[in-house]
This record gives sequence, C-alpha cells and structure tokens, in this order.
Amino acid sequence: MSMADRQHERRPNGRLQQRTGISLALKATALLAGVFLGLFLTATLLVDLRSATQLGAVLLAAFLILAVFFDLRVRRPLREMAARSRRRLGSEACDEARGRDEIQELNRMIDGLVTAFTAAEDRAEGDHVIREDLEHMRTINRQLMEIATLGKEIAAMLPYRETVERILSHGRRFLHADFAALLLLDAETATFSLEDAEGVTSQASSADCLACTEECPVRRSIAAGRHARIRGHACALIPHTMQHLLVLPVSVEDVGEMALTAASTDGERLALLSDDGLETLRSHLQTALTNAHKHDAVRRQIVTDHLTRLYNRRHFMRRANEEIARSLRYQEPLSILMIDIDHFKEFNDTYGHATGDRVLQTVARTLLKALRTSDICARYGGEEFGVLLPSTPGESARFVAERVCRTLSETRHTDLGLPADVNVTISLGVATCPSDATDLESLLDLVDKALYRAKADGRNQVAVHKSAVVGQVRN
Ligand code: GH3
Ligand code: MG
Ligand code: MG
Repeated sequence: MSMADRQHERRPNGRLQQRTGISLALKATALLAGVFLGLFLTATLLVDLRSATQLGAVLLAAFLILAVFFDLRVRRPLREMAARSRRRLGSEACDEARGRDEIQELNRMIDGLVTAFTAAEDRAEGDHVIREDLEHMRTINRQLMEIATLGKEIAAMLPYRETVERILSHGRRFLHADFAALLLLDAETATFSLEDAEGVTSQASSADCLACTEECPVRRSIAAGRHARIRGHACALIPHTMQHLLVLPVSVEDVGEMALTAASTDGERLALLSDDGLETLRSHLQTALTNAHKHDAVRRQIVTDHLTRLYNRRHFMRRANEEIARSLRYQEPLSILMIDIDHFKEFNDTYGHATGDRVLQTVARTLLKALRTSDICARYGGEEFGVLLPSTPGESARFVAERVCRTLSETRHTDLGLPADVNVTISLGVATCPSDATDLESLLDLVDKALYRAKADGRNQVAVHKSAVVGQVRN
C-alpha cells in the first residue's frame, strides 16, 4: 500500500474523533447555560427583580467560572484526548496499514520462500539433469579435444605410408581397439584390399565374412558415407573374439573409397564415443589421407621424368651424392651405369618423334624390369639413362649391364611400329665407387669415358672403366 492510500484511510477516523469531542463540549456548555438560565428565571419569579439581578450576576460569574473551569478541565482535556486519540488512531491506522504491508511482505516472503523451496526442489532435480548434461558435454569436449590432437598428429606426417601407419597406431589407441585395418575398395572388382593393419590379426578368412556381399557392413558404411558400429563378428580380417566393430568410411581423392575398421573384444569405448566425434574423426582421416596422397604425388612429380616415369636428372644427382656418402661411410661399393641409345636420332628421323618417345619408354621399362627395386634408375637427359647400383662391385655391375644390353637387343619392337629386323640397342659405361673414384664429378667423368669407348668400339656393348670392352652382344 502506498503512503497516500494510508493517509487517505486514516483521515475519516481523525475527523470523527474531533467532531465527537466538540459536540460533547458544546452539549455540556449548553446544559450549564440552561441550568443557570432556569435558576435565574426561578429567582425572578420567587424574589424581586433587584435581588434576581444580583442573583443573576452571581450566577453569571459562577457560570463564567464554571465555563472557564469546564474549558480548562473538561473541554481542553477532551480536545487533547481527541487529538491524542486521533493521533493514536492515526498511528494505529498507520500501524495497521504497516502491519498489513508487513503481512503482505511476509506473504510475499513466504511466497518467495515457497517459490524458492519449490524452485530449489526443482533445481535439485534440474541440477541433476544439468549435471548429467554438463558431464556429457565434458565427455564430448574431451573426446573432441583428443580427436583434434589425433587429427594434428596424423596430418603432421605427410608421406602417405607413414600417414597410414600413424592412423592405425594412433587410431587404434584412441578407439581402445585390439585391431585396426585400413581397407581399400577396388571399384572395378568390388573387392577390398588391405592397405595396412595393426594389432591382433586373424588367422584365415572366415566363412561368415560378408565382404563379397552387399550385406558387408564395411561396404554398407562406405555406401552410406557414414560411420557404423557393428555388434557381432562380421569381417574376415577380425578374430572371432572381437565382437565390436567400428567402420569409418573415408573417400580419398585419386585413391578411392577406403575404410578404417577397428575391432575390440570390449565395446565400452566404442559405445561411449559420440556420433559427432566419430564423424569428426572420419573427416580428419579423410583430410590426412588425401593430403598425404597429394603430398606423395607432388613429390613424385618433382623427382619424376614425365615421359619415362623414371627419376629425373636432378633426383639422380641428389641420390648419387647420398649413395656415394653411404658407400664411403660403410665401405660398400657403389656402381654407376651410364646408358645411351644407339643411333637414336635415326628413329626420330625415320619413324617420327612419337615413335622415338615410345622407344625411350620401352628402354625405361626394360631397365626397370632388369634392375632391383633398391637400384635407382633415371633419365639423365635426351636418350641417356643413369643407374645407381648400391652395394654392387664393378664386376656385378658389368653383369647387370650386359644382361640389360642383351635383353633389349634381343627384343623385337613391332608393337612400336618398328620393322621386325630393326632392334633397339644401347651402349653402357660402368664405374665404381670407391675403387675408381670417390666423388660424383670424377665418377661421372669416368663412366662417360667408358660409355664413349663402348660407342667407339661398335655400340651395343658394355665398357667398364679402365677395362677394355668386356662384352659385346651381337645381333
Ligand atoms: P649415338 O649412337 O652416337 O648415341 O647416336 P644418337 O643418334 O643416339 O645420338 P645423338 O646425340 O646424335 O642423338 C640423340 C637424339 O635424341 C637427338 C634428339 O633429337 C633426340 N632426343 C633427345 N631427347 C628426346 C626426346 O625426349 N624424345 C625424342 N623423340 N627424341 C629425343
Ligand atoms: Mg646421346
Ligand atoms: Mg645415342
């Protein structure tokens, strides 16, 4: 209640009290005046006028004295009493109003408390829900942070092979999996090939494997483009003891459809992982594998000769220096072959540049077939090729060189559009580190001289440094 309302309520009571006091005083004064007037008239009738006047004066004096007395002892106290009463009533009214306010305030407080208690009860219940939500959010946040760290780790390793290895080791640890494998779907044959695997491997393919059917969970997950959690044994790669399988399909640009499969005997961790977290992990894998593959492709391009797909001269020089250093450090012989196609200009001139290019490609393929994978074969320039043969002494290098020379000269190249009696021959020079020289410049100089000698001695043969021509392949 406002102050104005309270004053409005108090005012009528005050007036009432005031009016009551005044009317009481007036009635008393009127009564006294009446009594004295009655006495004066009685005296006038009973005694003479003079005596009556004297009596009237006495009565008037008595009336005045009584009036003053009445005013002092009755009316004023009454007025004061009325005023006090008014004040009291006013204050009582005020107190009453204040009391009402206080009650209302208390009611409000009680209401507030009830509301608060109710809210507290609700909150207690709500708190439980909120706590659960918070805990859930914390778990998801923790998972996402772990996934982000994992994403960084696998993205940091750019070469494809190492990226695959990291995905398997880190992914397996993150997923608490006993086994992890990266599969590649061959679109043409619709079969899976194993890129790599880590952990407990299964012995042999299982009869209940669904890999070759439409029901295969890995295939279905790839088709849906979403991860899948599978209960039960459903993949031949995975031992029967592992009844919990996770499939994360990954589409890798220029590679194809892949899938990370992780399996464990206990599915607790897989169940705890959120769908969003798994989809985030999937996109990390996709990015890491795509980038790694592109990285390798660019690196290959940088070191590759575009026509023959062999290494280019720059890579050959870099690797030659590395292999010389290794040869000297480990006292292991390193042989170098320099190869030049005989009369190559004639192929161009007679059969056209395109045929000349195909001849270059054929020689490159023949070299690769005849060499070990650890050997480094490059197109040194034009129609010249350089080969590094690590851990190979001069004699063995000569043997390899003669084999390549013979293979090529014995091959008919009708598929290239060349007549059956036309063959492709090469001349080869051989030099070895450290027996002939210990630096690349000197070795290249020696091997060039040997090659020149092979050419000078009739072509289609091998010349080893410091030696005479040791072999000739006749057609
Ligand atoms: P030799 O037996 O003495 O080595 O004779 P050659 O004809 O092989 O030697 P020459 O150096 O005279 O000729 C090399 C030719 O190789 C000249 C050049 O036009 C050709 N050539 C170089 N690079 C390429 C290429 O990338 N493609 C084609 N088609 N020809 C090339
Ligand atoms: Mg040449
Ligand atoms: Mg030549």
